[in-house]
Amino acid sequence: MNVVNDTSCGWINSLDRRTNIKTLDKDKSCDWLIVGAGYTGLSAARKLSEIHPNQKIIIVDAQLAGEGASGRNSGYLVDTTLNDGFTSKKDLSNYKKKTDIYKLGIDAVKKFIKEHQVDCDWNESGKYFASSSQNDRNILENFSKTLLSLNFEHNILEKDDLGKRFGTNFYNLALYTKGGILLNPGKLVRAMVDILPDNVELLENSQLNEWSKNNDTIVCKFNNYKINTKKIIFCTNGFLKSLGIKNNYNFPITLTASMTRPLTDTEFKSIGEPNEWGVLPVRPMGATVRMTKDKRILIRNTAEVHSPFQMSKSDLDKRSLNQKLGINKRFPSLADDIIESSWSGIVSRTRNSSQIFEKNDDNVFVAGCYNGSGIGVGTLFGEQIAIKASNNHTAEIELIESRNKPTWLPPQPFLDLGIKSRLIYERFRAISEI
Ligand SMILES: Cc1cc2nc3c(=O)[nH]c(=O)nc-3n(C[C@H](O)[C@H](O)[C@H](O)COP(=O)(O)OP(=O)(O)OC[C@H]3O[C@@H](n4cnc5c(N)ncnc54)[C@H](O)[C@@H]3O)c2cc1C
Repeated sequence: MNVVNDTSCGWINSLDRRTNIKTLDKDKSCDWLIVGAGYTGLSAARKLSEIHPNQKIIIVDAQLAGEGASGRNSGYLVDTTLNDGFTSKKDLSNYKKKTDIYKLGIDAVKKFIKEHQVDCDWNESGKYFASSSQNDRNILENFSKTLLSLNFEHNILEKDDLGKRFGTNFYNLALYTKGGILLNPGKLVRAMVDILPDNVELLENSQLNEWSKNNDTIVCKFNNYKINTKKIIFCTNGFLKSLGIKNNYNFPITLTASMTRPLTDTEFKSIGEPNEWGVLPVRPMGATVRMTKDKRILIRNTAEVHSPFQMSKSDLDKRSLNQKLGINKRFPSLADDIIESSWSGIVSRTRNSSQIFEKNDDNVFVAGCYNGSGIGVGTLFGEQIAIKASNNHTAEIELIESRNKPTWLPPQPFLDLGIKSRLIYERFRAISEI
């Protein structure tokens, strides 16, 4: 099956169209092949080119580079993710490792944008875990204890304060963390594409269909041509399974999001002219909602088992309707035809929310599965997997490899049944927050 992105993502469509697209048009060979040109693959390519300036590096993508999940996410570069308290010291130390990895991810993105003078609407505004339900107070108070023991600056806020900050009275309480950055994901990944060094060849609209090892050569088959490579790094995230990578350890989930047009001055005034903000849900299936720098409202409120390869226009329209209701519930005074774009994107999940970072076989490497933290962790893992594949070691690799490894998943049809029932249960629990 072919990977087909919709062409309706608001972040991507507001960028200039690229013109210099090259596709695989003959058989090739190289020292390094990177599959997937999102944050992970592009960061791996950048790092490999630095380590091996004289080697031939090719990066391929089934679609246009950066136009998968990397260009269509919600733009939260996170320092923490919600964890509903801990019962043991071991759990706390695992959570600490996770946040240490997030920190390295933030540092990696920061370094990249500084080095290349990237404008991606970077805003160190912090983020809110917010809820309309007082029943979630316990969750936030437990989370607050965790953050306190790890010295993350944060505070719990009540309805009145939130109303002024967000321009909506929907939320009754929230935990604000000072850490966490809001950015434009499309601009960030486009910069990673634009600065690819000369010894990296980018081939787009070129989908890897099959690969096999033949002694020291890895033979990679595309539609009409093949690439022979000495080493390969898989960075296809939600599409790892379709290439037979870590089959029993990860699965794709489809998300959809919508973004409004910029609010008019009158509309913006009517909601109190709030500063840019970003809310993450307290319950896993609740909505992520952002007020962007240019006064647009972004909402993502679906997560489901769906074919990762393509979402039809009619399926997308149904999800968009859901997002219109989500915006209307929060901003009833705004017109209900202000959604300008809706799109879908694929993330990769593991059972225990741990990421994949490993040598899969001799000369075969893989990095992926970041759930909602791929902006930072994907950038970090891309760079570090390139270092690992070059037989070098860093303190970052040591930390990454000391985290919990992804746990085994049951085979189909049990896997899909299990995930679907869990998602239905979580959606029911979060019904007021969608
Ligand atoms: C709606 C949405 C909201 C999100 N919000 C956030 C957020 O706020 N913060 C955050 O940190 N993360 C968020 N994420 C997750 C984040 O986008 C991902 O974790 C991140 O983009 C992963 O980057 P990646 O490079 O590993 O994978 P991707 O960006 O998915 O790139 C993989 C690439 O592989 C290509 N590919 C697949 N199969 C093949 C093949 N056979 N041959 C060649 N190429 C192939 C794809 O076309 C794709 O471009 C969100 C994701 C979505 C969809």
